[in-house]
Amino acid sequence: MTTLMVSVSGVRGIVGEGLTPEVVLNFSQAFGTYVGHGKVVVGRDSRVTGELLKNSVIAGLLAVGCDVVDIGICPTPTLQLAAESLKTNGGIMITASHNPVMWNGLKLIGSDGLFLDAEQGEEVLNISTRQSFNFANWEGIGLRISYSRAIEEHVKAILALEYIDVEKIKQRRFKVVLDCVCGAGSVMLPDLLRRLGCDVVELYCEPTGLFPHNPEPLPENLSGLCAAVKEHEADLGIAVDPDSDRLALVSERGEPLGEERTLALAVKFMLGRKKGPVVINASTSRVIEDVAAEAGVALHRTKVGEINVAKKMREINAVIGGEGNGGVILPDIHLGRDAPVGIVLTLQHLADFAGTISALNDSLPNYVITKDKVELADIEPQAALDTIRQAYAGENLDFTDGIKLVRDRSWVHVRASNTEPIIRVIAEAPTEGEAKALCKELKGQVV
Ligand code: MG
Repeated sequence: MTTLMVSVSGVRGIVGEGLTPEVVLNFSQAFGTYVGHGKVVVGRDSRVTGELLKNSVIAGLLAVGCDVVDIGICPTPTLQLAAESLKTNGGIMITASHNPVMWNGLKLIGSDGLFLDAEQGEEVLNISTRQSFNFANWEGIGLRISYSRAIEEHVKAILALEYIDVEKIKQRRFKVVLDCVCGAGSVMLPDLLRRLGCDVVELYCEPTGLFPHNPEPLPENLSGLCAAVKEHEADLGIAVDPDSDRLALVSERGEPLGEERTLALAVKFMLGRKKGPVVINASTSRVIEDVAAEAGVALHRTKVGEINVAKKMREINAVIGGEGNGGVILPDIHLGRDAPVGIVLTLQHLADFAGTISALNDSLPNYVITKDKVELADIEPQAALDTIRQAYAGENLDFTDGIKLVRDRSWVHVRASNTEPIIRVIAEAPTEGEAKALCKELKGQVV
């Protein structure tokens, strides 16, 4: 298996195997050369390898004459917001997102707080490959400063949103079990919830980076959270991934709602406050099509990848958007997936609804999404896509991103992953049986 993935969206790998200090140093020198002189904000999630890699990142940036603003352990969205609000030339977030503990990586962020797009990422890659770094001389090397207010500024920005009524949320005195998987959310989310008057039961909220369970916030990884919600008779369970851009909810019955529902509920809430277009990716649940249609607003779909959704949102002035993996993007804060934002929108929604999260969730139409994958070691991706294209030539096929076969009340989407050496096969249908059958059928075409 490949242990280093270098792509236009950054670098990710297993530390000590593919991902070494040299790789990180090269990439950081390339990024610093690309953005030119000026400030670059650097942050990391809580992984035990984070400090080591941060030293490489900072060395690389200083060497090419960038000044480094080190904001320490923080969620990725906090860093994105800081990149913009501190008027930097860009940012580097040291994280492997939802990947297990042995992984780490870099996410590259532009001065506007958005991830670099494919073209910009390609430029950084080229500088890195050619090693054409713009090294500073002894008088030109950068300075490093520590900045400890980025998280507080992020919290304040969210609580100041005009449609967030802190007092109303406080009155509900929600009891919430919070699973930060010992990731970066630990340094922000317990405090955020308490400021909203919640009675917080902390589950894995020490930022040790030693993940107590698989850190991807999928239902199968949240059994501890589900049990704790029941045990404490909580109103809500909340799970985030290690860099807190993905949010998953657990109902008061101790049942995971599934990540797709996070964004669907957030969209439902926002469209009740502000009418305007919505942007989601090609694999996101069709329940959001129903929600948008009910509100009478346009819905756009893009290729998978936060930057693709974010750019479309900026282009059409969307009021909300995101990805079905629990990634809520609220442009009133910034154009990046933001679990803290998702949490606060959810609590406001729940306070307004005056019922349980289960009842709120049941107020939306139900579809079932199943996700499967094929290891790239077993097949050649383009050949696999060509096979599917031929097999379903007579049906409604969408080529926005890989291939999506769209039927009346269901769809199945086959695409190469940006971050892992796999092909993803995702299907949605009114029942689990139908969705699973679709996944199996398409998988059967390629392996
Ligand atoms: Mg993440």
